[in-house]
Parts: sequence; C-alpha cells; structure tokens
Amino acid sequence: MLGDWPYERVQIQISLSNRSKEAIPWAFVTRQPIPQIHFQINPLANSAKLSKDWTLYHELSHLLIPYKAPEDIWFSEGLASYYQNILQYFSEKITEREAWQKMYEGFQRGRALNKQPHASLEEIAKNMWRNKHYYRVYWSGAWYFLAVDVELRKANPDRGLHQILQAFNQCCASDNTLMSAKELIKHFDRLSNSHHFSEMANTVKASNTVPDAKPLFNVLGIELDHNNVRLAKNSVIRSKIMHPTEIGPITPSSCPATTGDLDD
Ligand SMILES: [Zn+2]
Repeated sequence: MLGDWPYERVQIQISLSNRSKEAIPWAFVTRQPIPQIHFQINPLANSAKLSKDWTLYHELSHLLIPYKAPEDIWFSEGLASYYQNILQYFSEKITEREAWQKMYEGFQRGRALNKQPHASLEEIAKNMWRNKHYYRVYWSGAWYFLAVDVELRKANPDRGLHQILQAFNQCCASDNTLMSAKELIKHFDRLSNSHHFSEMANTVKASNTVPDAKPLFNVLGIELDHNNVRLAKNSVIRSKIMHPTEIGPITPSSCPATTGDLDD
C-alpha cells in the first residue's frame, strides 16, 4: 500500500485490554532484533470498530523509517500521524475527504491542547512522555511532513515524500541499522536534492504551536467551511499525494553516498 515495504518480516503481538473504550487502547513498535508491532485489543470491540481504527496504520507507518529513539520524537510520531490517515484512504477504509478532515482535526487538536505555548517544539518534545504533550508533538510533526511533501511536489509532483522514502529504503536502509532523525534528514535532503527536510525541521523545531495548515491546504485546493474540509478545487499535488506513482527499482549508481559520507 506504500510502495516497497522495508522489512521482510514484521512480527505482530496481540494482547487483550479494556483499559479504555477504544478498540485498540494501546500499541507500540519495537525494532530489534526484528520489527514488532504490539497491539492491545479491546475484547469488547467488534470487527467493524476494529476495522475503522487508525492505530494499525499509525504503527505500520512508524516502520517506514529505521528511527532511533528517543531524540526528535516529533519526527517519528509526525511521520506516523501524517500517514495514518493517508494509509486508511489507500486501504479504502475512509474517503479522501475524510482523510483530510482527520488530518485537519489533528492539527486543530494539537493547537488547542498546547500546554506550553512559551516553549519550542524542540524543548517540549524532549519531555513529551513525562508532560503528556502528545498532541502538539505528534501534529507538529505531521504538519512538517505535509509541508515537506508539498514543497517537494511543487518542484516535481511525482517526486514527493512517498518516492523519497521508497528511494531511501532501496538505497540506504538496512534491517539492523537504526538512525537518528538528524541522520535521516540528511539522507532525505540528499535523495531529494534539496534542503527542504532540514530547513523545514528548523522551522518546526522552533515553533510554539502546530503551524497553520491553511496555506498548505490552499495549495492542495482544500477549503474550510466551519471546520469542515471541502475538496474545493483540483490540485495536481493533492492528487499525487493520494495516488502516488511508484519509482521502481533504482540502480546502485543512482544511490547517493550513505552514512560514512555525511557531514555534520
Ligand atoms: Zn506513534
């Protein structure tokens, strides 16, 4: 559903829990020795409720990059939050409008539940678990990936985040090498022949709230009517995000240099 899957095998662990009313009260990913997704499933949830839950898509998206925790948690949670709705659309669980509506609601939640507007994202992300700043951290990160995706596709609609992740997983990722967000950003800049990943990272890390998504929505032909998303105009960029073209196998000679060659 998202091009090349970076792993041959992913183990799924399931346990039962009714600690909240959610269909999946808790889930998380562990990466070594092999990638695993751990799900706590509510025994009272029926299959319709489970099938509508976003958690599976969020956790799968975490495995698109070999992220090394815990630094820059906004980067990892942002990628998963950005893709959770897009992957639900790819899987035909929700409509395209619903996917953008859910993304918009995430951004709004992150802005409304901003407990420390005086602190930068970089500062609050360091203590996210202790201070429970999840919404602002997750959705600032999701805004980052949407903003980068839009910038990349302004230059070439067929060369967005989706294609950079595919190229990265063909060229530069291996099952047992985890990388910091800083290292991943360097790879992504190099693969995209741009500075969008690093420049936008500086912008979002200094932000004091989830940045406004409306300028991005304008580019995507998305309008808001009393907090309801409307797909008002056609947009090549939006269409390419939601119907991405695959890049196909890339030759080793077109792989940019990897970790050893990265400067600080
Ligand atoms: Zn997550």
